Amino acid sequence: VAPALKTLTLARTLAPSLSRGHPWIYRDNVPKDFGAESGQWVRVRAGEFVGYALWDTQSPIALRVFSELGVPDATWVARRVRAAHDLRAALRLDGVTAYRWLNGEGDGLPGLVVDRYGDYAVVAAYAGSLESVLPWLVSGLLECEELAGIVRRRDDGSIELLAGSEPPETVLVEEYGVRMHADLRHGQKTALFLDQRENRRTVGARSSGKRVLNLFSYTGGFSLCAARGGATRVVSVDVSAPAMEAARRNFHENGLTSPSFEFEVADVFDDVEARRARQESFDLCICDPPSFAHRHEQRERALAAYERLHAQALALVEPSGFYAASSCTGQVTPELFRQVLAAAARRAKRRLQIVHDAGQPLDHPVMAGHPEGRYLKFMVARVQKLV
Ligand code: SAH
Repeated sequence: VAPALKTLTLARTLAPSLSRGHPWIYRDNVPKDFGAESGQWVRVRAGEFVGYALWDTQSPIALRVFSELGVPDATWVARRVRAAHDLRAALRLDGVTAYRWLNGEGDGLPGLVVDRYGDYAVVAAYAGSLESVLPWLVSGLLECEELAGIVRRRDDGSIELLAGSEPPETVLVEEYGVRMHADLRHGQKTALFLDQRENRRTVGARSSGKRVLNLFSYTGGFSLCAARGGATRVVSVDVSAPAMEAARRNFHENGLTSPSFEFEVADVFDDVEARRARQESFDLCICDPPSFAHRHEQRERALAAYERLHAQALALVEPSGFYAASSCTGQVTPELFRQVLAAAARRAKRRLQIVHDAGQPLDHPVMAGHPEGRYLKFMVARVQKLV
């Protein structure tokens, strides 16, 4: 028997943000005497606002608002899954077989992410309370597509089979004609950095005849696009040996075999210094570091580290060459990112002329009322000498 729906009245100051569609209510905003079981639906009120939220006893976000109209059920969740599927139709038409099917808050299912890799779906749930929604999510996915299997990726990296059969060691997927192996068990994120798809394409279109350096290359996404785009030299650098092995395999899978495609397992900070000492230079450098700041308190140190990194990397780019930089943390706004790049350029005694400025692709939508959903920045700039 489902427990009776509890109503929780919150400060009216929360109403504007909630009414604009921001789905998070932090624990500090919940009266101390309120209690419910994790995963229980709660009717929340703040001034004129009424919403139906999932209560979580563990995460800093105590309540995630799903609906303003009523308590969600399996049918309601299946509709969100279907709407998210519809939004990605253009990608499927383009022959893209790996994409984010459901982007949590951005698709109206807070805390839940689904990535699709061919016939498999990988689910991630960012709070314990979401456990109760998972079965509805799984049936919603199966209603849309005939999937071979649905697995869940846990924080500790383990996977759990939710439906169908276990995925093979790697699933071969395709992105605008580029084939890539996705390791759903051991890969970072859910296997690939799907959010960089359009940016990889941008790099591919700018690589013809160029010497390309790809820093933090992971399984070689940007490198593959550069090589296919006609780059004369492609150097991939990443500290992870398995990622580099996967990059080699991906090159092979795409029939890209040449001694000018180089794979370097190294710390980028050291590698860049070594190349500078050897006076190497490149026409295009891609720099897509991991997030150095997960929390607000880490932001200042992270910004300093980014500035140093970009300054070092910029020194390897031939004047009038291009620098493509990315940042994947929501802690750094696009404006701040631009400032960091400008400061890095100053250090390297260069100017950066931005020619391309991008955010998240179609399959990583951001709700207008939830700015935290915007985390990805990608800028391409021409590197100029001081004049
Ligand atoms: N550009 C990639 C994603 C990069 S993710 C793509 O499009 O798929 C960040 C990568 O940085 C990871 O592969 C991680 O192994 C690597 N990494 C983290 N710290 C590093 C360091 N100090 N030196 C080299 N690589 C590092």
